[in-house]
Amino acid sequence: MPQLVPGRKRIALVAHDGRKVDLVSWADFNRNVLAAHELVATGTTGTLLEYEVGLTVERVNSGPLGGDQQIGSRIVEQRVDMLIFFWDPLESQPHDPDVKALLRIASVWNIPVATNLATADFLISSELMHTAYMREVPDHGSHIDRDLAPGV
Ligand code: PGA
Repeated sequence: MPQLVPGRKRIALVAHDGRKVDLVSWADFNRNVLAAHELVATGTTGTLLEYEVGLTVERVNSGPLGGDQQIGSRIVEQRVDMLIFFWDPLESQPHDPDVKALLRIASVWNIPVATNLATADFLISSELMHTAYMREVPDHGSHIDRDLAPGV
């Protein structure tokens, strides 16, 4: 089922500690574009975006304390239009299962995701950043209706 994503997007931002410098400098460079959208971020990432970049950001909990799961929950509820997730491929995290879960749930619901600078650059320079977009929300009805009759 298509969902209308308006010009003003709801963008979730998350960066692991080893990637926070990259995210902050990317956000600083793209501050004017980002400021036109509704931003939500995990705790420490959000604090940096507010105080280092000057963006208005809603903050959920810190990632290791459940923030990734809160963002994931919003994706399930169709309340996030884009995910900028600079996860660190060179460090294991205390919340590694949450990292995988967040990437997975974004794929389940067909949410655009950038996990590195180059992809983030491509996303933010897309004309779809400023215009409405019909996003296909996958129909997972066949999964919900699957036959779980005992013995089958
Ligand atoms: P943080 O969480 O923004 O609170 O550091 C990010 C993460 O590690 O998922």
